[in-house]
Amino acid sequence: MLPRLLRHPWMDDDIEAFREQVRRYVERELAPGLDGWRRQGFIPREVWRPFGAMGFLLPEMPEAHGGAGATLAYQLVVQDELAKSEMPANTAVHTIAAHYILDYGTEAQKRRWLPRLASGELLAGIALTEPGVGSDLKALRTRARRDGDHYVIDGAKTFITNGFSANLLVVAVRTGEAGSRGVSLAVLETEDLPGFRVGRRLEKLGQHASDTAELFFDGVRMPAAQLLGEKEGEGFVQLMSQLPYERMLLCVPAAAVIERAVELAVDYTRERKAFGQAVFDFQNTRFKLAECATLAHVVRSFVNDCIQRMLNGTLDPEAAYMAKWWCTEQQGKVTDECLQLFGGYGYMAEYPIARLYADARVQRIYGGTTEIMKDLIARKLAG
Ligand SMILES: Cc1cc2nc3c(=O)[nH]c(=O)nc-3n(C[C@H](O)[C@H](O)[C@H](O)COP(=O)(O)OP(=O)(O)OC[C@H]3O[C@@H](n4cnc5c(N)ncnc54)[C@H](O)[C@@H]3O)c2cc1C
Repeated sequence: MLPRLLRHPWMDDDIEAFREQVRRYVERELAPGLDGWRRQGFIPREVWRPFGAMGFLLPEMPEAHGGAGATLAYQLVVQDELAKSEMPANTAVHTIAAHYILDYGTEAQKRRWLPRLASGELLAGIALTEPGVGSDLKALRTRARRDGDHYVIDGAKTFITNGFSANLLVVAVRTGEAGSRGVSLAVLETEDLPGFRVGRRLEKLGQHASDTAELFFDGVRMPAAQLLGEKEGEGFVQLMSQLPYERMLLCVPAAAVIERAVELAVDYTRERKAFGQAVFDFQNTRFKLAECATLAHVVRSFVNDCIQRMLNGTLDPEAAYMAKWWCTEQQGKVTDECLQLFGGYGYMAEYPIARLYADARVQRIYGGTTEIMKDLIARKLAG
């Protein structure tokens, strides 16, 4: 039995009923579109309108802002079910953007954007990374210069998930001095925004249904009231404060994909014959699958424990860093081991295991690389 079926204290009956609703919706309404979205390189924004109408886009937003006032666990359940069906992480960045606004926005900003983010009228992206700056975010160069009651934004971003399909962006900009204290977050509605341009949709190793784009800002004029929180220099603190939740948004899909990979490999090797027997019956296969199933259990247990601590308010950042690097590394390892058991078929894009393998690679890079996670953990060890 795979760990998905094991109940954890945070999984009460209500949340499991919600999971079932999401699962059915994803299977019926989203999974059939996935092949076409992979070929075209993006999921149309309109797809998320009915998803929002079902209450699946931002269930954790307060009712006053268009959500159901649910806990963050509900959003993680949505991400779990999406990942299980190979849906990419487009709605994960959407929820992160919404939480920046919820936690740091003025009342007017919350009223303006949150209900439209919850309904799917707006799809959000987060634009932090620049061509010359990724891990070392405090060195970012996109500049927002104050001009009366506006800011004028100039610069470029790259690798932005939803960069092509989003119509709202939370953009990290430099409003002041060099270093982290000069960083602010700007919120832009990008449709027909003068000076804003989406560059290339980047071709990737995996995650083909998810659009990842370059963005250009050439003299974009933004009302000062759209600076998140309206106070300059708070951006870095705002970005850092959400990190434990953001890490969980990557760890839950890692757990889901690991379980799926093991299921696929068990099914395949039981059917496939070589040397007159099922591939499953070779001792090597049995041992590999036993190892992968063990990792699936340990990853899921670790993730469940982190979720419980997050809900209790006791998830320390270091535990979240540990979970991020370790769970995503196990995802890479398990998808690789399971692919091997498929032989040549494992390399064919039409086989889900090939896609799980390719899609997994980026998990160790985005949301903070494995090396950055380890560095942060080591800093804490040093006291
Ligand atoms: C598919 C995809 C989607 C993405 N989506 C988004 C998005 O929506 N929004 C967004 O803003 N960004 C996004 N990113 C960008 C992503 O967050 C960055 O790629 C990531 O943070 C790494 O930055 P970098 O690529 O500049 O690598 P670099 O920072 O240049 O790192 C290169 C290598 O050096 C290592 N390294 C760097 N610093 C250290 C250190 N101090 N110690 C040890 N090793 C170090 C890194 O671990 C890495 O191995 C996305 C990236 C991809 C591939």
